[in-house]
Amino acid sequence: MKPARFVYHAPTTLDATLQLLAELNVDAKLLAGGQSLIPMLNMRLVRPGHLIDLQHVSELAGIHERDGGVAIGAMTRQRQVERSPLVAERIPLLAEAIRHVGHLPIRTRGTIGGSIAHADPAAELPGVLLALDGTVRLASARGERTVAARDFFVDILTTAAEPDELVREVWFPSLPPRSGSAWLEVARRHGDYALVGVGAVVTLADDGQAVAAARLCFISVAGRPVQATQAEAALRGAPVTPATWREAGALVREELDPPADLHASAHYRRHVAGVLAERVLELAARRAQEGAGR
Ligand SMILES: Cc1cc2nc3c(=O)[nH]c(=O)nc-3n(C[C@H](O)[C@H](O)[C@H](O)COP(=O)(O)OP(=O)(O)OC[C@H]3O[C@@H](n4cnc5c(N)ncnc54)[C@H](O)[C@@H]3O)c2cc1C
Repeated sequence: MKPARFVYHAPTTLDATLQLLAELNVDAKLLAGGQSLIPMLNMRLVRPGHLIDLQHVSELAGIHERDGGVAIGAMTRQRQVERSPLVAERIPLLAEAIRHVGHLPIRTRGTIGGSIAHADPAAELPGVLLALDGTVRLASARGERTVAARDFFVDILTTAAEPDELVREVWFPSLPPRSGSAWLEVARRHGDYALVGVGAVVTLADDGQAVAAARLCFISVAGRPVQATQAEAALRGAPVTPATWREAGALVREELDPPADLHASAHYRRHVAGVLAERVLELAARRAQEGAGR
């Protein structure tokens, strides 16, 4: 199929882009890498009157160290992030998870901002952003604001961004000292969307024998990425032992209420989430003990 008729715009500055967005508002769609939007246009799931292509807005691309973390411009391609030595060193969870996003040609075109703004509940990058407690910087002709990941993702393909706002930048904080992170997922084939995916950050106490804090975030188990807060609370102060990871896995099975769909039953997703929780926590804690960060 072909898309419905639209007017194409290719601004070259952020200001011009924001002006266009302010004028056209809900009748416009932003085009980033096109890996999700183009199929949706072709299937006529969306029919915007105007398409604003972001690819010439150079202000929106780049990877920078900032405020104890890494800020990534919305139009930075996923492949650039995957190959960035700075991301590998400072945000190893992102470097690990991004390899699971589709296939190489998709990551070569797909952007960080596109994935975050699209807010697919099965997408890895929103899950990583929530696991790390990162933020999204939004810009509009009215000004800028920063939204925490926990408030940004609202539901399936729905975020806290207003129609005249674009994602300008995404900020991922670096891990605290004595921390390790890990990403695991189950998909039918490598590159498919995850049936269940999970990111963990484990911070150890000074003696390395207990968990000081843990974050555990799942994708593909709800309309948005979700944090397993009960399991996280139980992990605080718990000893670094297999029994601790097993108990966290059991809590995750109780806490999550995943949907059933064509790809997997709710029972299967809940079971897999528990198993992945155990494994990802063990791996993140081992990496923390080894000082490997990720
Ligand atoms: C075969 C296939 C397999 C895939 N597998 C996976 C996978 O396993 N995991 C995964 O996470 N993703 C997967 N994807 C999606 C891919 O990661 C996309 O790149 C991503 O979802 C969207 O990024 P994009 O840059 O292509 O955005 P686009 O497709 O251009 O845009 C997506 C949406 O975001 C909006 N948007 C884009 N940029 C901005 C911005 N800066 N501010 C506000 N709104 C914006 C657009 O208007 C549109 O609504 C897959 C895609 C394909 C085609």
